[in-house]
Amino acid sequence: MGKVTGFLEYERLEEGHEPPQARLKTWKEFVITLNEEQAKVQGARCMDCGTPFCNSGCPVNNIIPDFNDLVFHGDWRNAIEVLHSTNNFPEFTGRVCPAPCEAACTLNVNDDAVGIKSIEHAIIDRAWAEGWVTPLVPAVKTGRKVAVVGSGPAGLAAAQQLARAGHEVTVFEKNSRIGGLLRYGIPDFKMEKTHIDRRVAQMQAEGVVFRTGVLVGAWPADSKVTNDAKEAVSAEQLKAEFDAVLLTGGSETSRDLPVPGRELDGVHFAMEFLPQQNKVVAGDKLKGQIMATGKHVIVIGGGDTGSDCVGTSNRHGAASVTQFELLPQPPEQEDKPLTWPYWPTKLRTSSSHEEGCEREFAIATKELIGHKGKVTALKTVRVQMQGGKLVEVPGTEQEYKADLVLLAMGFVAPVGSVLDAFGVDKDNRGNARAGTEDLTGYKTNVDKVFAAGDMRRGQSLVVWAIREGRQAAREVDTYLMGRSDLPR
Ligand SMILES: Cc1cc2nc3c(=O)[nH]c(=O)nc-3n(C[C@H](O)[C@H](O)[C@H](O)COP(=O)(O)OP(=O)(O)OC[C@H]3O[C@@H](n4cnc5c(N)ncnc54)[C@H](O)[C@@H]3O)c2cc1C
Ligand code: SF4
Repeated sequence: MGKVTGFLEYERLEEGHEPPQARLKTWKEFVITLNEEQAKVQGARCMDCGTPFCNSGCPVNNIIPDFNDLVFHGDWRNAIEVLHSTNNFPEFTGRVCPAPCEAACTLNVNDDAVGIKSIEHAIIDRAWAEGWVTPLVPAVKTGRKVAVVGSGPAGLAAAQQLARAGHEVTVFEKNSRIGGLLRYGIPDFKMEKTHIDRRVAQMQAEGVVFRTGVLVGAWPADSKVTNDAKEAVSAEQLKAEFDAVLLTGGSETSRDLPVPGRELDGVHFAMEFLPQQNKVVAGDKLKGQIMATGKHVIVIGGGDTGSDCVGTSNRHGAASVTQFELLPQPPEQEDKPLTWPYWPTKLRTSSSHEEGCEREFAIATKELIGHKGKVTALKTVRVQMQGGKLVEVPGTEQEYKADLVLLAMGFVAPVGSVLDAFGVDKDNRGNARAGTEDLTGYKTNVDKVFAAGDMRRGQSLVVWAIREGRQAAREVDTYLMGRSDLPR
C-alpha cells in the first residue's frame, strides 16, 4: 500500500477532456491522460484492502492494488508488467472499459472510487512511449497450427496468447482491417485506430499471420453486416489445414424495429452508420455515405452504441439529435448499500451526451412516417412498467420530426452461417454453445472447434472479450499439448 492515509488526504481526480466545441471539429481522442504526478496521487488513494473487490469486479482480474502501489512508488516499468500479466491490451480497456472494477472498489462504499481506469490508461500510454512494449517471441515452436476466425478483441487476445505459447496462428478476418468492433464500431474519438495497428505489428513480430478480406464459411446475401471479403475459405478447409479452430466472430446481427415504415429511406442500423465513418477516417472513399449533416436525427436505443451514434451525428453537424430509451429514466445516484460491489443501474451521461443531445426515456416508437419513400417523422407513445411489463400510457401519442433514424437497440446473435458451416450447436439465443470451465471450457460440440467472445457469450464488452480470448487460448493449448502454462 503506497500511502496509508492517501484515501483520507486526496480527492479522486477525473481525466481531463478537450472542451466539446473543440472536440466536435475532429475525430481525434479528447481525453487527457493523467500525468505522472497526478497518477501517483491517484494511486495513493488505493487502500490495498484485505479483499480487493476491484480485482474480482474486473473481468480480466487485473491485479489493481499492486499496480496502484507501483505507480505511487514511481515504478512504472513493473506496473506495466503487472498490468500485462492479466490484460493483453490495456490501451483498449484504459480507453473504452466502463470500469466495473471501480463500482466494486471498497472506497466506493462511502466515497469516490479509486480512478483505476485512468491509472491503467496512464501506465500503458507511458509503456508505449518508453518503448517497453516489445514483441515476446516464443523460444520454442510447437509446430501446431491454430486458425482464429475473427479479429476483434477476443480473437486478438487468443491469437497473442497462442503465438506466445509457440503455436503457428493465423487470424482470418472478413473485413479489410483488423480489430472487429474496436475498428468499425467504436468511433475514433473514443479510441484512435493506431492503437490497434501497433498491436497488430507487435503480434506479427510474434509470429501471428493476419489474413484480411477472407470470409470463413458462407454469408447471407441479404445481411447488412459489414463484409469486405474478397475470398472465402470453407469450414472443411480450415479443419483439414489446422490442428484447432477458434471461432471469435462476434455477435453482429442487430436487433430490428418491426414497425410500419421500417423500409423507408433514412432508417438504418447503427452498424451501417458507424463503420462507414470509421472507414472514412481511415482514408477510404465511400459512395453515398450515410450523413447526419443538417438532419434531425433520432437514435433509438439508450446504450453505448446509441451514444456513439450521437457523437458521430454531432460531428457531422446534425440539426438536432434526440436519443430514445424504452426503459424509464434511472436514478442519478445509485443506492450504494444495495448495489455495491456490483454494477449499479444509474443515469449515465456519456461524453457524447455532453456534446449535445436530447434524451427521452420511457418512450416507444409505434410507426415511422414518410413522404415519397423518405422518413420524415416518428409516431411514439410513452410507456410505463406495470406488473413487470412495459405498457403504453393512453393519450401520450406524439410525433417527432426525423430525417435520419438510427437503430441502436443491441445485437441479437452472431451471423449464424459461420456456426452452421462448422456444424456448431447454438444455445437458445443463437450463440455458439460452449461452457467456460477450466479444462473443458470454450469447446463446441465439434472436435477441435472452440468458440469465445461475443460469438459465445452474446454482445458484451471489450474486457469480457479479452478475458474469453485469454481463457480460450489456454483451453486450445491444453487440447493441443495435454497441458498449458498459459494463465486463465
Ligand atoms: C458501436 C459499439 C460501441 C461499443 N462500445 C464499447 C465500449 O465503449 N466499451 C466496451 O467495452 N465495449 C463496447 N462495445 C462492445 C464491444 O466492442 C464488443 O463486445 C467486443 O468488440 C466483442 O469482441 P469480439 O472479439 O467477441 O467480437 P467483434 O469485436 O465483434 O469481432 C468479431 C470479428 O469477427 C469477424 N467475423 C465474423 N464472422 C466472420 C467470418 N465468417 N469470417 C471471417 N471473419 C468473421 C468480424 O468481421 C469481426 O471483425 C461496443 C460495441 C458496439 C457495436
Ligand atoms: S479492464 Fe476495465 S474493469 Fe479491469 S481494471 Fe481496467 S477499467 Fe477496471
